[in-house]
Amino acid sequence: MRTDEIASGLAGVEKRIGEACLAAGRDRGEVTLIAVTKTYPAADVRLLAGLGVRDVGENRDQEAAPKAAACADLPLTWHFVGQLQTNKVRSVVGYADLIHSVDRGRLVEAISREAVRQSREIGCLVQVALDDDPGRGGVRPADVPAVAEAIDAAPGLWLGGVMAVAPLGEDPGKAFARLRDVALGVQEGHPRATMISAGMSVDLAEAVAHGATHVRVGTALLGRRKLFVR
Ligand SMILES: *Cc1c(COP(=O)(O)O)cnc(C)c1O
Repeated sequence: MRTDEIASGLAGVEKRIGEACLAAGRDRGEVTLIAVTKTYPAADVRLLAGLGVRDVGENRDQEAAPKAAACADLPLTWHFVGQLQTNKVRSVVGYADLIHSVDRGRLVEAISREAVRQSREIGCLVQVALDDDPGRGGVRPADVPAVAEAIDAAPGLWLGGVMAVAPLGEDPGKAFARLRDVALGVQEGHPRATMISAGMSVDLAEAVAHGATHVRVGTALLGRRKLFVR
Protein backbone atom coordinates (compact mmCIF):
# COMPACT_ATOMS: atom_id res chain seq x y z
CA MET A 1 0.00 0.00 0.00
CA ARG A 2 1.08 3.53 -0.69
CA THR A 3 0.88 4.47 3.01
CA ASP A 4 3.37 1.74 3.85
CA GLU A 5 5.73 2.83 1.08
CA ILE A 6 5.67 6.41 2.26
CA ALA A 7 5.96 5.41 5.92
CA SER A 8 9.04 3.37 5.13
CA GLY A 9 10.53 6.20 3.05
CA LEU A 10 9.89 8.57 5.91
CA ALA A 11 11.43 6.21 8.46
CA GLY A 12 14.55 5.90 6.30
CA VAL A 13 14.89 9.66 5.89
CA GLU A 14 14.28 10.24 9.60
CA LYS A 15 17.00 7.72 10.40
CA ARG A 16 19.47 9.48 8.08
CA ILE A 17 18.67 12.90 9.51
CA GLY A 18 19.00 11.54 13.05
CA GLU A 19 22.35 9.94 12.29
CA ALA A 20 23.62 13.08 10.56
CA CYS A 21 22.62 15.19 13.57
CA LEU A 22 24.31 12.78 15.94
CA ALA A 23 27.51 12.81 13.85
CA ALA A 24 27.47 16.62 13.76
CA GLY A 25 26.70 16.97 17.47
CA ARG A 26 23.43 18.69 16.66
CA ASP A 27 20.02 18.32 18.19
CA ARG A 28 17.45 16.62 15.90
CA GLY A 29 15.12 19.52 16.64
CA GLU A 30 17.45 21.91 14.79
CA VAL A 31 16.61 20.33 11.42
CA THR A 32 13.21 20.53 9.72
CA LEU A 33 12.32 18.02 7.05
CA ILE A 34 10.53 19.53 4.07
CA ALA A 35 8.84 16.84 1.97
CA VAL A 36 9.19 17.86 -1.67
CA THR A 37 6.03 16.49 -3.25
CA LYS A 38 6.44 17.70 -6.85
CA THR A 39 5.03 15.26 -9.43
CA TYR A 40 3.24 13.37 -6.63
CA PRO A 41 -0.51 13.76 -6.06
CA ALA A 42 -2.38 15.54 -3.30
CA ALA A 43 -3.26 12.08 -1.94
CA ASP A 44 0.42 11.56 -1.11
CA VAL A 45 0.57 14.93 0.64
CA ARG A 46 -2.40 13.80 2.72
CA LEU A 47 -0.64 10.54 3.63
CA LEU A 48 2.51 12.45 4.61
CA ALA A 49 0.44 14.75 6.79
CA GLY A 50 -1.13 11.70 8.42
CA LEU A 51 2.37 10.46 9.21
CA GLY A 52 3.21 13.71 10.96
CA VAL A 53 4.92 15.70 8.20
CA ARG A 54 4.12 19.39 8.58
CA ASP A 55 6.30 21.00 5.88
CA VAL A 56 5.89 20.39 2.17
CA GLY A 57 7.74 21.81 -0.82
CA GLU A 58 6.78 22.35 -4.44
CA ASN A 59 8.66 23.85 -7.36
CA ARG A 60 6.09 24.63 -10.06
CA ASP A 61 3.08 26.84 -9.54
CA GLN A 62 0.90 25.09 -12.12
CA GLU A 63 1.17 21.91 -10.10
CA ALA A 64 1.40 23.37 -6.62
CA ALA A 65 -1.63 25.69 -6.70
CA PRO A 66 -4.29 22.99 -7.18
CA LYS A 67 -2.47 20.63 -4.81
CA ALA A 68 -2.34 23.22 -2.05
CA ALA A 69 -6.03 23.95 -2.61
CA ALA A 70 -6.87 20.24 -2.35
CA CYS A 71 -4.91 20.07 0.94
CA ALA A 72 -6.15 23.33 2.42
CA ASP A 73 -7.72 21.50 5.37
CA LEU A 74 -4.36 20.04 6.47
CA PRO A 75 -2.07 21.71 9.04
CA LEU A 76 0.78 22.23 6.58
CA THR A 77 3.41 24.86 5.91
CA TRP A 78 3.97 25.25 2.15
CA HIS A 79 7.45 26.01 0.85
CA PHE A 80 7.92 27.15 -2.74
CA VAL A 81 11.40 26.00 -3.79
CA GLY A 82 11.45 26.39 -7.59
CA GLN A 83 12.48 29.20 -9.87
CA LEU A 84 9.77 31.81 -9.79
CA GLN A 85 8.65 34.09 -12.59
CA THR A 86 7.02 37.34 -11.59
CA ASN A 87 3.82 36.46 -13.45
CA LYS A 88 3.33 33.51 -11.06
CA VAL A 89 3.84 35.53 -7.90
CA ARG A 90 0.18 36.34 -7.38
CA SER A 91 -0.75 32.66 -7.40
CA VAL A 92 2.21 31.50 -5.30
CA VAL A 93 1.63 34.11 -2.60
CA GLY A 94 -1.90 32.70 -2.30
CA TYR A 95 -0.70 29.41 -0.78
CA ALA A 96 3.04 29.52 -0.07
CA ASP A 97 4.13 30.37 3.46
CA LEU A 98 7.78 30.59 2.46
CA ILE A 99 9.56 31.14 -0.83
CA HIS A 100 13.11 29.70 -0.89
CA SER A 101 14.06 30.85 -4.37
CA VAL A 102 14.26 34.64 -4.13
CA ASP A 103 17.10 35.64 -6.41
CA ARG A 104 16.54 39.20 -7.60
CA GLY A 105 15.27 42.56 -6.44
CA ARG A 106 12.43 42.60 -8.95
CA LEU A 107 11.08 39.42 -7.43
CA VAL A 108 11.30 40.86 -3.93
CA GLU A 109 9.19 43.84 -5.04
CA ALA A 110 6.64 41.62 -6.76
CA ILE A 111 6.25 39.26 -3.78
CA SER A 112 6.00 42.16 -1.38
CA ARG A 113 3.32 43.90 -3.42
CA GLU A 114 1.22 40.71 -3.58
CA ALA A 115 1.78 39.85 0.08
CA VAL A 116 0.45 43.25 1.08
CA ARG A 117 -2.47 43.00 -1.35
CA GLN A 118 -3.45 39.56 0.00
CA SER A 119 -2.66 40.48 3.62
CA ARG A 120 -0.12 37.67 3.85
CA GLU A 121 3.27 37.47 5.59
CA ILE A 122 5.67 35.54 3.37
CA GLY A 123 9.00 34.17 4.57
CA CYS A 124 11.68 34.69 1.94
CA LEU A 125 15.05 33.00 1.57
CA VAL A 126 17.78 34.24 -0.72
CA GLN A 127 18.75 31.52 -3.14
CA VAL A 128 22.54 31.43 -3.34
CA ALA A 129 24.40 30.32 -6.47
CA LEU A 130 27.21 28.04 -5.34
CA ASP A 131 28.63 27.70 -8.84
CA ASP A 132 28.78 29.82 -11.98
CA ASP A 133 25.94 28.12 -13.82
CA PRO A 134 23.33 30.87 -14.30
CA GLY A 135 20.75 28.30 -15.45
CA ARG A 136 20.49 26.90 -11.94
CA GLY A 137 19.36 30.17 -10.47
CA GLY A 138 20.55 32.00 -7.42
CA VAL A 139 22.39 35.12 -6.38
CA ARG A 140 26.18 35.23 -6.39
CA PRO A 141 27.49 35.23 -2.80
CA ALA A 142 28.72 38.82 -3.12
CA ASP A 143 25.22 40.02 -4.01
CA VAL A 144 23.37 38.13 -1.27
CA PRO A 145 23.51 40.89 1.37
CA ALA A 146 21.75 43.38 -0.93
CA VAL A 147 18.90 40.97 -1.72
CA ALA A 148 18.62 40.05 1.98
CA GLU A 149 18.42 43.75 2.84
CA ALA A 150 15.69 44.29 0.26
CA ILE A 151 13.62 41.43 1.69
CA ASP A 152 14.08 42.68 5.24
CA ALA A 153 12.91 46.15 4.25
CA ALA A 154 9.93 45.00 2.16
CA PRO A 155 6.41 45.18 3.60
CA GLY A 156 4.69 41.81 3.96
CA LEU A 157 7.95 39.84 3.88
CA TRP A 158 10.21 38.41 6.55
CA LEU A 159 13.76 37.31 5.90
CA GLY A 160 14.17 33.61 6.65
CA GLY A 161 17.77 33.09 5.56
CA VAL A 162 19.42 31.38 2.60
CA MET A 163 18.85 28.41 0.34
CA ALA A 164 21.01 26.56 -2.15
CA VAL A 165 21.23 23.51 -4.34
CA ALA A 166 24.62 21.78 -4.37
CA PRO A 167 26.40 22.22 -7.70
CA LEU A 168 26.80 19.17 -9.91
CA GLY A 169 30.25 17.63 -9.90
CA GLU A 170 31.52 19.16 -6.68
CA ASP A 171 31.79 17.68 -3.21
CA PRO A 172 28.50 18.90 -1.69
CA GLY A 173 30.14 19.33 1.72
CA LYS A 174 32.48 21.97 0.31
CA ALA A 175 29.61 23.79 -1.35
CA PHE A 176 27.50 23.69 1.81
CA ALA A 177 30.44 25.03 3.81
CA ARG A 178 30.46 28.09 1.51
CA LEU A 179 26.71 28.42 1.97
CA ARG A 180 27.15 28.45 5.73
CA ASP A 181 29.67 31.29 5.43
CA VAL A 182 27.17 33.25 3.34
CA ALA A 183 24.45 32.51 5.90
CA LEU A 184 26.60 33.71 8.79
CA GLY A 185 27.31 36.91 6.87
CA VAL A 186 23.58 37.53 6.49
CA GLN A 187 23.01 36.75 10.18
CA GLU A 188 25.47 39.45 11.24
CA GLY A 189 23.03 42.08 10.06
CA HIS A 190 19.86 40.00 10.53
CA PRO A 191 20.26 37.75 13.56
CA ARG A 192 16.82 36.23 13.21
CA ALA A 193 17.41 35.05 9.63
CA THR A 194 18.69 31.69 10.79
CA MET A 195 17.31 29.38 8.10
CA ILE A 196 19.76 27.44 5.96
CA SER A 197 17.80 25.43 3.40
CA ALA A 198 20.20 22.88 1.94
CA GLY A 199 20.39 19.19 1.23
CA MET A 200 18.22 16.90 -0.84
CA SER A 201 17.85 13.10 -1.02
CA VAL A 202 21.45 12.46 -2.03
CA ASP A 203 23.29 14.98 0.12
CA LEU A 204 21.19 15.66 3.20
CA ALA A 205 23.88 14.33 5.57
CA GLU A 206 26.50 16.71 4.20
CA ALA A 207 24.02 19.57 4.50
CA VAL A 208 23.25 18.73 8.13
CA ALA A 209 26.98 18.49 8.82
CA HIS A 210 27.34 22.05 7.52
CA GLY A 211 24.53 23.66 9.44
CA ALA A 212 21.39 23.10 7.37
CA THR A 213 18.25 23.91 9.32
CA HIS A 214 15.91 22.71 6.55
CA VAL A 215 16.45 19.75 4.25
CA ARG A 216 14.30 19.38 1.12
CA VAL A 217 13.71 15.72 0.35
CA GLY A 218 11.61 14.23 -2.43
CA THR A 219 12.90 11.01 -3.99
CA ALA A 220 14.01 9.35 -0.75
CA LEU A 221 10.53 9.83 0.69
CA LEU A 222 8.22 9.26 -2.23
CA GLY A 223 10.24 7.33 -4.80
CA ARG A 224 11.83 8.19 -8.10
CA ARG A 225 9.87 10.75 -10.10
CA LYS A 226 8.57 9.69 -13.52
CA LEU A 227 9.25 13.07 -15.06
CA PHE A 228 12.40 15.03 -14.53
CA VAL A 229 11.27 18.33 -13.09
CA ARG A 230 13.76 20.76 -11.66
C1 LIG B 1 13.08 18.46 -6.42
C2 LIG B 1 13.78 19.34 -5.48
C3 LIG B 1 14.27 18.85 -4.25
C4 LIG B 1 14.15 17.40 -3.83
O1 LIG B 1 15.04 16.62 -4.58
P1 LIG B 1 15.19 15.05 -4.32
O2 LIG B 1 16.47 14.72 -5.01
O3 LIG B 1 14.02 14.38 -4.95
O4 LIG B 1 15.24 14.83 -2.87
C5 LIG B 1 14.89 19.76 -3.41
N1 LIG B 1 15.04 21.06 -3.73
C6 LIG B 1 14.59 21.56 -4.89
C7 LIG B 1 14.80 22.99 -5.18
C8 LIG B 1 13.96 20.72 -5.80
O5 LIG B 1 13.52 21.22 -6.96
